[in-house]
Amino acid sequence: MEEILTVKKISKKYEDVDVFSDLSLSVKKGEKVVIVGPSGCGKSTFLRCLNGLETIDEGEILIDGEKLRQDTKEIYHIREKLGMVFQSYDLFPHLSILQNIVLAPVRVQKRDKKEAEAEAMELLERVGLSSKKDNYPRQLSGGQKQRVAIVRALLMHPEILLLDEITAALDPEMVREVLEVVLLLAREGRTMLIVTHEMQFAKAVADRMIFLDEGRIVEEGSPEEFFTHPRTDRLKKFLKSFAYE
Ligand code: ADP
Ligand code: MG
Repeated sequence: MEEILTVKKISKKYEDVDVFSDLSLSVKKGEKVVIVGPSGCGKSTFLRCLNGLETIDEGEILIDGEKLRQDTKEIYHIREKLGMVFQSYDLFPHLSILQNIVLAPVRVQKRDKKEAEAEAMELLERVGLSSKKDNYPRQLSGGQKQRVAIVRALLMHPEILLLDEITAALDPEMVREVLEVVLLLAREGRTMLIVTHEMQFAKAVADRMIFLDEGRIVEEGSPEEFFTHPRTDRLKKFLKSFAYE
């Protein structure tokens, strides 16, 4: 399978913190890679470097064979290949759900508004929210807002979806409805890089698991090996903290 993302020995520092150094990873088209690791180990920073929200100090990132350059306009073009969903949905409170979703495709990608709205409605339908199109974010539950945020990312037609702990701020009963949407997308063959603390979900969705600790890939493998036969004490201890059986 074709490689869609190649990360070569990247390093990232904040003034006094070495977040990671010499970190490498490649992801194939259609692959679902789940990254887990303790809080503060660099998961969010890593995803933010991939879509250019953070600069890297060393190394390089190739997306679909194109080098991510940090200092040019080019970054906007490459950034569009990556759709990101965060823990906080960041919907504009004064815009309706439909307006929120079509904003970037119309403004940034210069798509035709009617066409973008038609696709937005199809996607909303698929996540069970077409009836909410004219509602405002405050009228939706957290789980519904997060499903809207996923639709917003998809409407940009990204080649890779980056999901950073998208259920971490949700009440438990809403976690499932959001993860079901992600599983649905995963089955469509999309390429995804997912950071999560939901281990059952990780096991169900992942083609490959990665354990990041102190900015290093400590262990990686199939979900089967990873959860059933962790090799390092650090991963064993980490998995235990989730009382994972
Ligand atoms: P994770 O997502 O795994 O919890 P982060 O990527 O958010 O970890 O953070 C990795 C490390 O980088 C932490 O030590 C954090 O305090 C530090 N860090 C993250 N963002 C910044 C920033 N903007 N400025 C300084 N330090 C940061
Ligand atoms: Mg994080």
